[in-house]
Amino acid sequence: MFPLTCAVQNYAWGKIGLDSEVAKLVVGGDPVAVIERDKPYAELWMGAHPKGDAQIKDNRIAQTTLGQWITHYPACLGSKVKDAFQGQLPFLFKVLSVNTALSIQAHPNKELAATLHAQFPEHYPDNNHKPEMAIALTRFQGLCGFRPVDEILGFLQAVPEFHALVGRDAAEELRSSVGDEVRTGRALKKCFTKMMSCEKKVFVDELNELVKRVTQEGAAGKDTSSSNGDLLLRLHSQYPGDIGCFSIYFLNYVVLEPGQAMFLGANEPHAYIYGDCIECMACSDNTVRAGLTRKYIDVNTLCEMLNYKPASASSKIFPCVPDPADPCVTLYDPPVPDFTVMKIQVPASVKDYTVASVDSASILLVIEGDAMATSAAAFSDVTLTRGSVLFVSANESVSLQVTSQSGMTLFRACSLL
Ligand SMILES: [Zn+2]
Repeated sequence: MFPLTCAVQNYAWGKIGLDSEVAKLVVGGDPVAVIERDKPYAELWMGAHPKGDAQIKDNRIAQTTLGQWITHYPACLGSKVKDAFQGQLPFLFKVLSVNTALSIQAHPNKELAATLHAQFPEHYPDNNHKPEMAIALTRFQGLCGFRPVDEILGFLQAVPEFHALVGRDAAEELRSSVGDEVRTGRALKKCFTKMMSCEKKVFVDELNELVKRVTQEGAAGKDTSSSNGDLLLRLHSQYPGDIGCFSIYFLNYVVLEPGQAMFLGANEPHAYIYGDCIECMACSDNTVRAGLTRKYIDVNTLCEMLNYKPASASSKIFPCVPDPADPCVTLYDPPVPDFTVMKIQVPASVKDYTVASVDSASILLVIEGDAMATSAAAFSDVTLTRGSVLFVSANESVSLQVTSQSGMTLFRACSLL
């Protein structure tokens, strides 16, 4: 094991200065780090991705980055992980601090990713899938999956500007499909495709009309919830004239309380709106966008690929489970081999805690608390504080001597094949 200094991404949508959980963790892990008051701190990348390979914080180690270390000592991945993922760390672990919404998007499955990469390498840079998991650190707001049909029908009725983009035929088809799952999926696809295929002038006019109406109703003290008014105005202020503003009538608005998670499997439309979270994903950059973006939108691919299965917002919260082997561990174990996330909560009463070995390389992030970490294989002990990031090799266990009074909270990413 050894400590890492991780890459910060200052994307414009990030929370500013010390409002950002990313910035707070950076200062915690490195007291001399300088946080600029007006700068966005969007993402902390804990992994070996070439665009943000973590630096090894121990100058006795010849390799300077985690990626270089893994290339030299692939056995640190664990034999199964090394073979299954061609000697690469299969996941990228992150912290995100979201101030303004990120684009609505979906990620292809492996099969589609390979096809898209072969056809359009400029838009789809690799042939891998990109399942993602977000675990809230603070109250976290996002969009995820298609709403139950009765909610979409309600908006079609209450929001004439939305109805105009979908059109009467498609809306009627959706209404008459209720009760027949296959027909509903088809009708939903037709409705969404109609909206996404609208000419820009048409949807911009409808959007301006809608924003004007909702603003006036709000000013007159009327309840605008039947038009999802607050969210509409918020997204419109961030992305004026963007088709993604209408997607709030199709997609679930999901709010995660700290510790709750959302798993974004293949073809699931989603967007992050506001808040801080831990994120873990498979190593890939394949993203198909659907709005709230100034980037390229591939409408055909998007509308073909999406998962048109309506479901409630509450069903989008991914169930975490207690680890039967360790009462301090909560498992977030998605149905993909690439990664599993564990939340480790060491209670105040426990002063000596062992981070159990697994047959996979792990990355550990300290969210709260202090400890001295020791391992038989390490060059030296490592002092852990809030924001410390530790790389742990496969089959290496780490002893924590907890020094903080109120216990410790850590997140761990690994691959449990
Ligand atoms: Zn995504």
